[in-house]
Amino acid sequence: MTDGGMAPVTDPLPFDRPDEKPTMGPTGRPMPVLPEPAPLTQHGPARVVAMCNQKGGVGKTTTTINLGAALAELGRRVLLVDFDPQGSLSVGLGLNPHEMELTVYNLLMERDVALEEVVVPTGVPGMDLLPSNIDLSAAEVQLVHEVAREQTLQRVLAPAIAGYDVILIDCQPSLGLLTVNALTAADGVIVPLECEYFALRGVALLKTTIDKVRERLNPKLEIDGVLGTMFDGRTLHSREVMERLVQAWGDKVFHTVIRRTVKFSDSTVAGEPITTYASSSAGADSYRQLAKEVLARCLDG
Ligand code: ADP
Ligand code: MG
Repeated sequence: MTDGGMAPVTDPLPFDRPDEKPTMGPTGRPMPVLPEPAPLTQHGPARVVAMCNQKGGVGKTTTTINLGAALAELGRRVLLVDFDPQGSLSVGLGLNPHEMELTVYNLLMERDVALEEVVVPTGVPGMDLLPSNIDLSAAEVQLVHEVAREQTLQRVLAPAIAGYDVILIDCQPSLGLLTVNALTAADGVIVPLECEYFALRGVALLKTTIDKVRERLNPKLEIDGVLGTMFDGRTLHSREVMERLVQAWGDKVFHTVIRRTVKFSDSTVAGEPITTYASSSAGADSYRQLAKEVLARCLDG
């Protein structure tokens, strides 16, 4: 090494030095070593986690499917709840929106429909789904007239808590009554954010909504984490957005980030998670790492 002068040109570049520990993660913080999750000997009670951002196209549905599948790979019993009338989660798991007998809509609006009548298995062992289609958009209007309208989802999910380890709710891109129901039913929120400047707009409103739900409806509600999606490490832009996310949200930002890759849209077309569609891809590995980080942070111990 040199003593303050220019380094000789033969010196390896800083990021080529494998001996320099700890390694920087993509969020600009040292990457922690994530523990290998222990196998479970029994299941439940579930932690309910809402995937929430009122902006569309930020990776809520993609994260719900793939985090769910990665948690199921680790032996967790997972229930996914499609809570977006668009039904993208259901379609992304290979269901046909026109061929659903019972959906979350029936569960919310009809007292004689039981949870186990609506739950369907997915192609992933250990992962089930409560499907939705466009019918759910009517629930938003009809719920307004219900007693305890914000607690409806919480009430209908209650019988599922004992049998699952995690319940992931895929929210619609709005902060309306359906999303308030999801936040009221949840123990935690994961906020996926696209690594773009515009992504930071609207986040204050989301935070205010979460705070209001916590104050008025659900005191246990926590922010489990903020997830950078569609990250492109080659651009200064993505890295700057990541830096600002860490400034704004601190340790809430997951060390795991999800890079931009077309494999995600391909796997949606195939109707399966990336963990099975392209099992050894970088995208699949990112969600496996996220699963470990989520377990370490808020599910295990
Ligand atoms: P949301 O549910 O927030 O509206 P989606 O998960 O449906 O967002 O993602 C929006 C679109 O972006 C989909 O076509 C999806 O396949 C794609 N997508 C999601 N994550 C990524 C990623 N990391 N890289 C590239 N495309 C992605
Ligand atoms: Mg979606």
